[in-house]
Amino acid sequence: MVLFSVVTVFADDVADNQDSEGQTGYPGETTGDNTSLQTTIQDISDDDSARQYRQSPVITGPDAEKCRTRLVLLGTTGGVSWWPETNRTSSSSALVVGDRIYLIDMGQGSASRISEEFNSGSFVDSPGGRIEDGSSTFLENVKALFFTHLHQDHTADYPSLLLIGPGAGMGTYTDPSTNKTVIDPLKVIGPCNRGELDADMTNFTSRGGEVIYTDSADPDQITPTPGIRQMTNIIWQAYAQTINDITLDDGYPDFRSLIEVREIGGTGSGDIPLPVSVPDPNNGTCPAMDPFEVYQDDQVRVTATLVDHHQVYPSFAYRFDTDDGSVVFSGDTGPNTSGNLQKLADGADILVHEVIDKAWIEQKFGTPVPGSQMDALKTHMLESHTANDLVGQVATECHVNTLVLNHIVPGNTPDAHLMEAKANFTGDLIIGEDLMRIGLGSQE
Ligand SMILES: [Zn+2]
Ligand SMILES: [Zn+2]
Repeated sequence: MVLFSVVTVFADDVADNQDSEGQTGYPGETTGDNTSLQTTIQDISDDDSARQYRQSPVITGPDAEKCRTRLVLLGTTGGVSWWPETNRTSSSSALVVGDRIYLIDMGQGSASRISEEFNSGSFVDSPGGRIEDGSSTFLENVKALFFTHLHQDHTADYPSLLLIGPGAGMGTYTDPSTNKTVIDPLKVIGPCNRGELDADMTNFTSRGGEVIYTDSADPDQITPTPGIRQMTNIIWQAYAQTINDITLDDGYPDFRSLIEVREIGGTGSGDIPLPVSVPDPNNGTCPAMDPFEVYQDDQVRVTATLVDHHQVYPSFAYRFDTDDGSVVFSGDTGPNTSGNLQKLADGADILVHEVIDKAWIEQKFGTPVPGSQMDALKTHMLESHTANDLVGQVATECHVNTLVLNHIVPGNTPDAHLMEAKANFTGDLIIGEDLMRIGLGSQE
């Protein structure tokens, strides 16, 4: 089903975003070499009162699978829980472009969802039934994994990928000319060390609680807030016995060689500088900024910005621009991102945005004692997530025509509550479900 294929007019100002060649991109970006990956603005009126974007067709239902570029929602809930009476797993999505797969987050349950969606295998007949022809290497197609932030409902199945992935082609490809397997590390892109421990909003330490620190002989590696590189290294260490065993006994490669970590805001080799200064994340996590590039290959260009998921820092939204259109993932965020999400998502074809049900927050927390753990948690829910009656306004400000709700909290909330996202949004609303496919652009 084609939801729409139209040119949409928005009242906004794009004149400042034109470069010397008249091409248009985000503020601060160069566009000269990437015009095919940019959302094309077909007409700019002289008085800046109208703005037209080329919108790509957004295709749902069975035809979505035929699209060269498609979004696959792998896990559509969040939170530190398994919600009853729903099959939603935690936050994870895939963007498929041709035979490439790009993953965004890996919450609990997502490792199985990835296999359900992409692991078709290759079978041959044998007496008594089909058997697999060798073993599946479906993860060869996964080229990059992006973490929005390091909460566990976005990362809990990362260890599963690291530990089981080497048996399914992770970080390798098969050279068609020789049929030999070559290492091509999976790029893992995500947050750096927070830099400072969260403020103690629940009086945890004054009540005798002890904060967890990493353990290292190197004082520089001892921290209560490790980034994605240190997290990855510690996962290798935690599972050293099994990794060493199957490397020494079964001929697997060095698992570490299959992954290439690039921290956003880190200072290590290959890291991606964060083009804004956040000297103290306990005094604000989301200063206004322009989007910046974090990844590019011949199929996608990925840009990012900070969003507001305090006290988590850094927390990113990502935009994927392809020849078939553009998709933005909000990550976890409150509704006020200092305009950052609006800049990143401006005119994208699809905005995949988190949502939390306000009625559930009131039902669960009521009026908690000020300063209590419940009070802190309620504040986090209201300020660091986006309620169902506010997310539509955000989508409108982002000038997108399709809003896809994911990270639906609670995972079992009724659709009628989620439909409140239509408030202040006149575009197409899609309530995300696990393993839902949404095509973009032309069908193959
Ligand atoms: Zn989350
Ligand atoms: Zn979160």
